Amino acid sequence: MILIMAEFICTLCGRCCMGMGKYVKISGQIGQGRYAAHHGLSNETFYPSIMREYRDTFSPYDRKTPKEWCPFLLDADESGKYICVIHDSLPSFCRNFKCYLFKIYNSDNIYVGEVKGKTTLISNDEILNKMWNDEISNISTENMSLWRKSMISALEKKGYFVVDYE
Ligand code: SF4
Ligand code: SF4
Repeated sequence: MILIMAEFICTLCGRCCMGMGKYVKISGQIGQGRYAAHHGLSNETFYPSIMREYRDTFSPYDRKTPKEWCPFLLDADESGKYICVIHDSLPSFCRNFKCYLFKIYNSDNIYVGEVKGKTTLISNDEILNKMWNDEISNISTENMSLWRKSMISALEKKGYFVVDYE
């Protein structure tokens, strides 16, 4: 099995934070630019601090962004990036979040899909989708490290290769 490991790089597209309004809740302000908050998906209390450069201009209580968005997400900057104003004091859920776990390439080195969530394939490649349904979805997920090995090995047998962002 040839496995390529790679570092996950967030492109600041903002998509994952745009549905977090119902999970990231502020319970109170505890200082200038400092809050107590709760992340509902990881059930953790955390104490975000607005980064210095945004403290004078940003308040989560006075934001203009949609209510579905996380209260700490700014609207796109001039380069189209969505900045989190508490990047230095994130809850562990956000610190550890990767929007995909694996990327899959075919034998011509062309990107054909990625694995998100636990074992969800996102791909437009019909052959890969069929193989995923016929073979990979039958692999037990009880032991995820075994699942990962079996998934990679099954894909490699069909000429795909996998980049692992774990
Ligand atoms: S983690 Fe992924 S979805 Fe979320 S902002 Fe970064 S690139 Fe976008
Ligand atoms: S705290 Fe930051 S990284 Fe986490 S959901 Fe909100 S904007 Fe995104």
